[in-house]
Amino acid sequence: MKSDIELITSEGKRLDGRGPEDIRKIKIEAGVLHRADGSCYLEWGGNKVLVAVYGPREAVPRHTQNPLRAIVQARYNMAAFSVEDRKRPGPDRRSVEISKVISEALEKVILTEQFPRATVNVNIEVLDAEAGTRCAGLTAAGVALIDAGIPMRDIPVAIAAGKINGQVVLDLGKEEDNFGDADLPVAISPRTGEVLLLQMDGHLTVDEFNQAFDLAVKGCHAVSEIQKKAVMHKYQAIAAEVQE
Ligand code: UDP
Repeated sequence: MKSDIELITSEGKRLDGRGPEDIRKIKIEAGVLHRADGSCYLEWGGNKVLVAVYGPREAVPRHTQNPLRAIVQARYNMAAFSVEDRKRPGPDRRSVEISKVISEALEKVILTEQFPRATVNVNIEVLDAEAGTRCAGLTAAGVALIDAGIPMRDIPVAIAAGKINGQVVLDLGKEEDNFGDADLPVAISPRTGEVLLLQMDGHLTVDEFNQAFDLAVKGCHAVSEIQKKAVMHKYQAIAAEVQE
């Protein structure tokens, strides 16, 4: 992944003008779909993601049921038109992996023990992709789960840190992801600090890893505030309607 392309200047200015710790612009809207139990539309830099949540409802076929708790099934899908070179539609190794790690992350915060034999389906559709889509999808899923009224310990949130031209930075953009040295997506429960997802692509020294991890956790807390505002915005609007 190492490259000679200048992704960050000696003054710390990145290709899109951001500083090392700046996050791309994020816009989150809760409850955008009428037929899903909960939903969320999220824009993060050039990423556009739509999440629909269904459940908890009885898991079928029945042999998939867990008598002690609900199962969480996240399905990450990248639309064919979401990337520069049209992607072949349907699941591939990458989307199966991302669906698995997101399912496991969400399972850690959802109170699954309250819904034995049930399933919670989380459909993540990436409409436009520009690096960091698994973090964008997981962050949107957190808001959609709240919108669906699914009891959770916390709203899960994610962001990636990484290394470009030997320097640790937050929230990699497309060129930084393609030509950078390393990418470290991190999801946490912001209330407890529990790590829900941690992946690494590329190479980091132990010091760089610690620096990137701390930066990602700081970034998660910043994104968490935007998530909470999106939820408050939706429910304040409903409360105002009810009062009228
Ligand atoms: N990408 C692509 N075609 C693909 C898969 C990925 O163009 O089939 C791009 C897309 O912009 C994505 C980026 O590569 O956001 C980085 O992909 P990665 O696997 O690192 O996951 P992400 O950063 O999106 O979580």
